[in-house]
Amino acid sequence: MSKFDVIVLGSGPGGYVTAIRASQLGFKTAIVEKESLGGVCLNWGCIPTKALLKSAQVFEYLKHAEDYGLSAKDVDYDFGAVVKRSRGVAEGMSKGIQFLMKKNKIEVLNGYGKVQPGKKVLVKGEHGDTAEYSADHIIIATGARSRELPSLPQDGKKVIGYREAMSLEKQPKKMIVVGSGAIGIEFAYFYNSLGTEVTVVEYLPNIVPVEDEDVSKQLERSFKKAGVKIKTSAEVTKVDTSGDGVKATVKTSKGEEVLEADIVLSAVGIKTNIENIGLEDVGIAVDRDKILVNDYYQTNIPGYYAIGDVTPGQALAHVASAEGILCVEKIAGMHVEALDYGNIPGCTYCIPEVASVGLTEKQAKEQGYDIKIGKFPFSASGKAKASGNADGFVKVIFDAKYGEWLGCHMIGVGVTDMIAEAVVARKLETTGHEILKAVHPHPTMSEAVMEAVAAAYDEVIHI
Ligand SMILES: Cc1cc2nc3c(=O)[nH]c(=O)nc-3n(C[C@H](O)[C@H](O)[C@H](O)COP(=O)(O)OP(=O)(O)OC[C@H]3O[C@@H](n4cnc5c(N)ncnc54)[C@H](O)[C@@H]3O)c2cc1C
Repeated sequence: MSKFDVIVLGSGPGGYVTAIRASQLGFKTAIVEKESLGGVCLNWGCIPTKALLKSAQVFEYLKHAEDYGLSAKDVDYDFGAVVKRSRGVAEGMSKGIQFLMKKNKIEVLNGYGKVQPGKKVLVKGEHGDTAEYSADHIIIATGARSRELPSLPQDGKKVIGYREAMSLEKQPKKMIVVGSGAIGIEFAYFYNSLGTEVTVVEYLPNIVPVEDEDVSKQLERSFKKAGVKIKTSAEVTKVDTSGDGVKATVKTSKGEEVLEADIVLSAVGIKTNIENIGLEDVGIAVDRDKILVNDYYQTNIPGYYAIGDVTPGQALAHVASAEGILCVEKIAGMHVEALDYGNIPGCTYCIPEVASVGLTEKQAKEQGYDIKIGKFPFSASGKAKASGNADGFVKVIFDAKYGEWLGCHMIGVGVTDMIAEAVVARKLETTGHEILKAVHPHPTMSEAVMEAVAAAYDEVIHI
């Protein structure tokens, strides 16, 4: 039986990053993976969706070439080629992880892994062959899959999850997207841009419901302007797939209606991959679909750890990676600080993009803060105007008493690349006045952050 210092189960952005950091720290490391290296993020999540969204965005620009004094005649698209490009980008990224594993001398064990008592991992290969490995530290990073609602069982053809949604052979004419979190909204934008008639059904009163209400409302306006139909405080109670298409019964406060479509995309969250991976055999504690861990990702059983989507933090790639790094650094005896889950940025990559970190206005008020709010619209930004992307704004929330930057909320083109400023500033406990004294380059979209902060302190220049 081969013995390692660290075995990581699952090679998503949690697992592969953990393995690389473990190897950097001098641990003899192996990683177990049953599919392609890179997990959901590289193969079926973050990266292929961004490739699809880029095609949609370029198409939008071409359609509106005249706005820039240009002409682009007979602008068209090939749905198959758009999907093929996205799959190609994902494949390339996965190959990149193969290279990184080799470079860092990490042994890749292909197959289905199960943790076993006595700090062992059983790996079953594609052809049923099994091998047992042992390690001083076993890190579970098996991730998650699309969650199925009893009222919305997925058949992979007419009622689909995100994997099918990014690899359809034929573009649907009509699509219902159930759920308006980041995944649902990104697909709604993508398909609507290519001409599919899209209806978004959201159970809660606002789309992108975790975001600040002002952002949700602005996105709803932009989406409606682009032709997406939106039903909030609405629930799909049943689907009928017996005919040519799908009939979805949608319940709202006004009653029930039946919507017809070719395809229903269920984007109602995720279900963790914690079944049949040996947790019960080892006695690892689980609560409501998540593996229980402490601040250093140790489970209740010494020598077994869990990171990423299988644990209770936000289900995001950057969270999974940060947890994995922290976990192995702690194993290596380094002094580590627990992750601040209140300072994790969240992004949605539709157009306009949405990005945020920290408390929303509602949360800040509920938590009893006396707050100062500043808002700066991109319509007053020279760079946004010059780029033809003047929709959206930056909104900042400060604690009026001590000047703590409580939250930052943005909607507009490119804001997912701008939110890091607020993350760093909050990490360094920067006050609003320090942001104002940090000169921002002109003309950039990032000036809107400085101006929003200035607005909070009644010092705004350009509005
Ligand atoms: C459509 C979509 C878009 C997304 N976009 C973003 C985004 O833009 N930004 C962002 O931060 N997050 C995004 N996410 C979320 C992000 O993909 C996840 O948070 C992230 O992949 C979680 O990483 P992980 O390492 O915990 O698990 P995963 O990426 O799920 O990886 C787990 C790996 O473990 C393997 N595995 C599972 N069980 C076993 C087993 N028993 N044996 C061997 N291998 C096993 C799986 O095959 C998989 O490769 C998106 C998700 C989706 C679905």
